[in-house]
Amino acid sequence: MHLILIGPPGSGKGTQAKKIAKEYHLEHISTGDLLRNNPNLSPEQKEILNSGKLIPDMMMLDIVKQRLSRCKGKGWILDGYPRTLAQAHLLEDSLEDGSTKVLYFSINSDQLLDRITGRLTCPACGSVFHATSKPPQKKGICDNCKEPLIQRKDDHEEVVKKRLDTYFTYTEPVIKHYKDKKIMANIECGNDFTIDQIFKSIEKILNK
Ligand code: AMP
Repeated sequence: MHLILIGPPGSGKGTQAKKIAKEYHLEHISTGDLLRNNPNLSPEQKEILNSGKLIPDMMMLDIVKQRLSRCKGKGWILDGYPRTLAQAHLLEDSLEDGSTKVLYFSINSDQLLDRITGRLTCPACGSVFHATSKPPQKKGICDNCKEPLIQRKDDHEEVVKKRLDTYFTYTEPVIKHYKDKKIMANIECGNDFTIDQIFKSIEKILNK
């Protein structure tokens, strides 16, 4: 199975990607994580990452192609890629078969700012908590690996506004592209739904 998850920052697609990967035995490829964990980023690239702008398309293509080549026939989920129409076209050109499904995480944009600015991330294991809606058992400490939690640099309010702006400008056209190709399913993921309810609706689509 080949899956592409598209949705604004804060839509919960990273959380769902981890659950899908576990349940369906897929490789979870988060381009944000690949970049954050890359020790060879230049100061300019780090600045792009921390300011909510986008890394150039050709560099992203190289990173994604390299990572996909390590999947060795195993299915995968792309989380955070493609984010521009050019990336969508480049990806299509480099994939051999056309059996990719796209899940679009649909959410009212009013709910996003609070979700992201309250987010607490574990730098060691990647677990994600929220200061009010999903607090860790012990304040500031990861439930899983007991490391101190951090707020990602790009989860601060000013950067989040820029990230949302970038999303609406560059990524929304990608949604139309996949809708027109009729390979995209909508996943409602607003505050009215729990993580498990959202996962159930994803399962229904994937098990069809
Ligand atoms: P994320 O964790 O997916 O929110 O990504 C964090 C940051 O990584 C983004 O704000 C971008 O600066 C960069 N990034 C991640 N994926 C891409 C992509 N597909 N194209 C360009 N930049 C990306």
